[in-house]
Formats: sequence, C-alpha cells, structure tokens
Amino acid sequence: MDFSTYLQKHPDNNGYFGPYGGGKEYLPAELQPIFEEIDEAYRTICHSAKFISELRRIRREFQGRPTPVYHCERLSQKIGGCQIYLKREDLNHTGAHKLNHCMGEGLLAKYLGKKKIIAETGAGQHGVALATAAAYFGLECDIYMGEIDIAKQAPNVTRMKMLGARVVSVSHGQKMLKEAVDAAFEAYLKSYKDTIYCIGSALGPHPFPMMVRDFQYVIGEEARAQYKEMTGFLPEAVVACVGGGSNSIGMFSAFLNDPVDLYGAEPLGRGTKLGENAASMTYGTDGVLHGFKSKILQDENGQLAEAYSIASGLDYQGVGPEHAYLHDLGRVKYETVSDLEAVDAFFKLSRYEGIIPALESSHALAYAMRYAREHRTGSILACLSGRGDKDVDYVAEHYGYGDEFAFKD
Ligand SMILES: *Cc1c(COP(=O)(O)O)cnc(C)c1O
Repeated sequence: MDFSTYLQKHPDNNGYFGPYGGGKEYLPAELQPIFEEIDEAYRTICHSAKFISELRRIRREFQGRPTPVYHCERLSQKIGGCQIYLKREDLNHTGAHKLNHCMGEGLLAKYLGKKKIIAETGAGQHGVALATAAAYFGLECDIYMGEIDIAKQAPNVTRMKMLGARVVSVSHGQKMLKEAVDAAFEAYLKSYKDTIYCIGSALGPHPFPMMVRDFQYVIGEEARAQYKEMTGFLPEAVVACVGGGSNSIGMFSAFLNDPVDLYGAEPLGRGTKLGENAASMTYGTDGVLHGFKSKILQDENGQLAEAYSIASGLDYQGVGPEHAYLHDLGRVKYETVSDLEAVDAFFKLSRYEGIIPALESSHALAYAMRYAREHRTGSILACLSGRGDKDVDYVAEHYGYGDEFAFKD
C-alpha cells in the first residue's frame, strides 16, 4: 500500500475504506439525500480558502492551538526505558480533543445556513463540546441524552445548560446512549431543513468518518512538526486511545507515510469476555451499527453486546470504519489496556509530571509505559486526549489517592 496518497484516496466516493464505511445502503431512504447534502457541502468548503482560514483563526484564538508536545523526563526516567512524549490535547479549550471536530462541524453548519445543531451524548463529553461550539457560532443546540446518563453525569448536564443548550431526556428502552441516538435521528428527520446532526467521533454515515478525521488531523500534523522541531527526528512509535476513534485517527493520519509504528490502545475493562470490555478491534467481528460497517462487539447471533470500560468515553460497541481498515492492512496495531493499568498510569502521570489525565487518555499512556519498558532506546509519542478533572472524584472514591498503588518503576 502506498501511503503517500492514502488520505486523498480514502474513503472512496461511496464512503468506504476497503470493505468498511458508512455507505448509503445502511441509511433509511429518507436520510440518504440529507447526508448527501452534507457530503457535497463538505467537499466544497474543505477546499475553500475562506473556510480554512476561518477555522485556523478559531483554533488559534478560541481553542488555544497549537497545543504543546511535552517530554515526560521524570516519568521516562522512573520507567528506565525509552523516552515518553505527550501531545497535550488536555490543554485544548474545554479540556479535550473533541472540540477540534465540533468547531469544524459548527462552522460547516454556519456555511450551510443552518440554525440548529443536534447530537446525542453518552457521558456528556461530546454534548459539552458541541454546546460550546453552538454558543460560539450563535446556533441553537439540542442534546439527546438517556435518562440514566443524565442522572449519572450531572456536572456535564449543568455545563451544557449553562452554555445554552437544551438537554432532551430520552426515557424509553434502556434509557442510555443507544436510545439517545435513535431519538436524535428521529428528531433530525423532522427538522433537517434548518438543522445539522453532529456526530461525536470518526464514525456514523459518510461523510462523518472522513470529516471528523480531517478536523482531527490537526493533532497529528502539529505533533509531527513539533516533535521534529524538538528532537530533529520522528518518534519510533505513536499511540492513542481508541473509543469511537477520533483522536487516534487524527494522530495516526499524519504519520501513515512515515517509518513510525502506530498503536491504538483499546479498553480491556475487567477482562476478555464479551460484556467485560469495549475492545471492538480485538474482540469484535464485522457488522453494521449506527449507519456504518466496521468491527462490532456482538454475540454469535449478531446481538449487540454490552460495552464496558472504566473510561466512559471509550465505552462503545463499535469503532470508526477506517480503524478496521488500517487494522486489516496491518498499518496500525491495536493493543488492549485494562482498567487497572489505566488507573496506574493515571496516578503515575499525576505524581511524576503534575498532569492529571482523563481516564480515556490514561489508556494511551499505559500503553506508552508498557512500550517504554520493552524498548530501551528511542521514544514513543502518546496522545493525551483530555484532562482528568472529570475523573478525580470517581478515582479517589474507588482507588484512593495513589498512595497504596504499587509505584514499582
Ligand atoms: C470522548 C473521548 C475519547 C474517545 O473518543 P475518540 O473518538 O476515540 O477519540 C478519548 N479521550 C477523551 C478525553 C474523550 O473525551
């Protein structure tokens, strides 16, 4: 495979990355022209100098980009292996990478003359990022959320309301993310003329896997240039955590054509059995979910399994279709990291570097630490997708403050 032209050629015009993708045939007929409209609009504006320079200005002035690359000298020394570097997406406005694609989606909504953006949210992270974009662009914003998630994620619900979004409670079925997706799609069908649906990761119907990748590409593009400027070289390896796959695909895209090993860190949760983890690349099989074909956690009858991870942002049964393709090509390796390994990395980065990472990002860091133990020389660059303020109460309640944790290294 020639990766020098890979990004221009993938997905194909029908939205496929090899056999995987968000083809039209997975959508109800009424929705097909709506996503086609978004695809056409995006293909036009992504080449527009005005759109690109406006997005660059927003990233610089509103989001605080570029975010730095940071060398973890103390942590690397404690481990005693190769050097660990971080791309600090936790320093992006709102504390995570999600705003990168939400601002792009908001700007697209503006260009399309839409008045409203809608989405579903599980843990509320996507809802908060999108509500932030809506406030910035002066758009209305409806966030669909399961009743159970609303009760569990009170601080994020408050943030969304503070930012002026309407949080719509979904109270049928399991009252969780899946029902919220259904309710949001239903609402979209009724209001697509002045509304645009904004998907929270590099997945869903075409063009979202491509569009979200392109908006997140900024992570890898910056990190590659910054690392080179700092050291004169490229890192031997790059790692990012994989939930739906947006921060990871943004990071990987910039290194596909380089002699750099790429690793996706998947959540192993409590174990290898179906229902104990959310490692769809490792334990999933081919299937269709939410308008796209990819690797999905399902039983032998095609019944969707439960997904579990300590990191609610990684807790999803599927994964973006481009990851399934890069996996089959052998260009990216997917490795699993357990809840406990993630918590260990969470404590170590806090204690040794003064950075409290999100539990999602702790999966990438835990893999970087494992890699460092196995490689004496060279370096690994990990995407620190978000900050851990949202997780400190949970971690303290279940694992204490890290004193009891074995700081073996
Ligand atoms: C949502 C989230 C993730 C997982 O989403 P991806 O689409 O896989 O990037 C990772 N880290 C943080 C901090 C998140 O909020």
